Amino acid sequence: MSVREEFDEWAADGRDRGMEDRHWHTAKYVLARMPVEEGDTVLDLGTGSGYAVRALRDTQRAGRAYGLDGSPEMARNARGYTDDPRVGFLVGDFDHLPFADDSVDHVFTMEAFYYANDPREALREVARVLRPGGTFYCAVNYYEENVHSHEWQDNIDVEMTRWSAAEYREAFREAGLSVAEQDNVPDRDTEIPDESAFPTDDWESREAMVERYREFGTLLTVGVAP
Ligand code: SAH
Repeated sequence: MSVREEFDEWAADGRDRGMEDRHWHTAKYVLARMPVEEGDTVLDLGTGSGYAVRALRDTQRAGRAYGLDGSPEMARNARGYTDDPRVGFLVGDFDHLPFADDSVDHVFTMEAFYYANDPREALREVARVLRPGGTFYCAVNYYEENVHSHEWQDNIDVEMTRWSAAEYREAFREAGLSVAEQDNVPDRDTEIPDESAFPTDDWESREAMVERYREFGTLLTVGVAP
């Protein structure tokens, strides 16, 4: 299935907002760490409901904020959630970003990068559109060390790339981005019931659930354009 087919379906049945609720648990910390200055141009790759661009406008006073998504229905929903004239939504693919060289100050992406057809090409595209010193905040919950995420591919028809933390760093460098930091951002908002509730429908043990949310959380890799 194509990104468009898969995620148009998700958008149509409201999963864009569901993802926003869950991803916000860690995305809010990532967004708060971005060195966005007033007036900067920011780009969110695989924007879904567009919460990240709305937040970067509202809390960091970004000048222009663009959300790009391969699903026209996602982009349409996202447009409907804001009337901010300085927020724009585009339909496009990570492999061909519709932006000029050196035209974006900071790029963010949450739970989307690993759907790229060619993640290395997507990184080269990010490096191309970033101005010198611009940053790429790449956040994923699906990655090699997070063993609890491995089965997610079974429920999605789009092929997902499962890199380790080291593979992210390596690929960033290959694309010409310096790695400024890499970190696990814990999800402290997902409620973890006490011992007596386990096993649950989703979790064998409390330890596994704690590991998934409080330890692994979201893998953040930060790249800087030369
Ligand atoms: N960032 C949002 C949405 C995550 S879901 C959130 O945190 O909730 C992943 C999104 O990336 C979907 O909306 C999907 O349509 C988009 N996407 C996946 N692969 C893409 C690609 N190759 N090019 C553009 N968008 C893509």
